[in-house]
Formats: sequence, C-alpha cells, structure tokens
Amino acid sequence: APKAIVMDDVAISRALTRIAHEIIERNEGLDDLAIVGIVTRGDILAHRLAERLKEIEGIEVPLGSLDISFYRDDYHTHIAPEVHATHIPWDIDQKRIVLVDDVLFTGRTIRAALDAIIDLGRPRAIELAVLVDRGHRELPICPDFVGKNVPSSRSENVRLYMEEVDGRTAVEISEV
Ligand code: 5GP
Ligand code: MG
Repeated sequence: APKAIVMDDVAISRALTRIAHEIIERNEGLDDLAIVGIVTRGDILAHRLAERLKEIEGIEVPLGSLDISFYRDDYHTHIAPEVHATHIPWDIDQKRIVLVDDVLFTGRTIRAALDAIIDLGRPRAIELAVLVDRGHRELPICPDFVGKNVPSSRSENVRLYMEEVDGRTAVEISEV
C-alpha cells in the first residue's frame, strides 16, 4: 500500500498545463522548440506536453524519444544508465530541446541523455522538465521545469502511474 498519494490525476494535469505555459514563457514562444521524452513514462509526459502546447499556441512541436535503461556496471559495482535507442527523426541543430522525464533522482539518466543528444548535433539549448524531483542528486543537474518537488528518503520509491500504461494516473510514495 502507498504511504502517501503525492499527486492525483487532476494535480498532474494542472502541473503539465503550468509547465507548458512556463516553456512558452521561457522560450518566448515555440520557435525552434522540440521535445524529447525518456521512455517510457517521460515519453508519455512529452506527448501530453506537446498536446498542451498545441492547445495553447496552435503549433505542433517536433517530438522525439530516448530509450535509456540501467545496466549493472560490475566494474564500478553500481547501476549505470545506458542509451539503447534514439528516435529523433528531425535535425537537432539550432533547436531548443526540452528533455522530459518522469522522476529526477541522481541525475545520471539525464547525463546519459545529454550525451546522446549532443552526439547528434548542436542544439541551441537543452532544458529539462520533470514531473517529480525527488532529490539525491549525484551530478550537477538542475531541472528548469518541475511538476512537484517530493523530498524522499533513499529507501522510498516514487511510483508514477500513467493512464496510457497503468489504467490510472497518480504519483505515490512507497517503501521499496
Ligand atoms: P536517476 O538517473 O536520476 O538516478 O534516475 C532517474 C531515472 O530513473 C528516471 O528515468 C526515472 O524513471 C527512474 N527513477 C529513479 N528513481 C525513481 C523513483 O523513485 N520512481 C520512479 N518511478 N522512477 C524513478
Ligand atoms: Mg525512466
């Protein structure tokens, strides 16, 4: 059973609407803007954000995705993120890319994502949007857009359920 329900579907929806407005405000519109979601739930959030941007500004921004999984790095005896697949079917040069993920924790996934994007070309800027920032960063990575800051202990797990894959939408905290 969850220890706490942190966001329900209405709160998540409102956070995405706010972040869409913040993205437009920060970038003074959507010129050259593109969105890259991290599979699976970051990608679903990226699609929802793109829908919001379309509703607000009437513009369809290019969407892409990165599939990043964790593998056991036995040499360093820890878990490290690795980019498996890159689906960015547009030219990234001079784009302002908003990278979207569900939960930001150590920052290692985002570092891997930045490497993968920069390998493809020269974006003008990369910004980071996350639904939940649970703290415990191990790298100097700071999100530009945050749905909710959820202070957590390392032994806790933030569970994000999304209608598209889970049949309901919520953010909850549980013990691992
Ligand atoms: P990091 O690389 O920052 O340590 O972890 C971020 C990645 O791992 C994200 O892609 C996220 O999906 C996943 N992740 C890390 N911690 C949690 C958590 O507490 N809950 C969920 N749902 N995902 C997490
Ligand atoms: Mg993830």
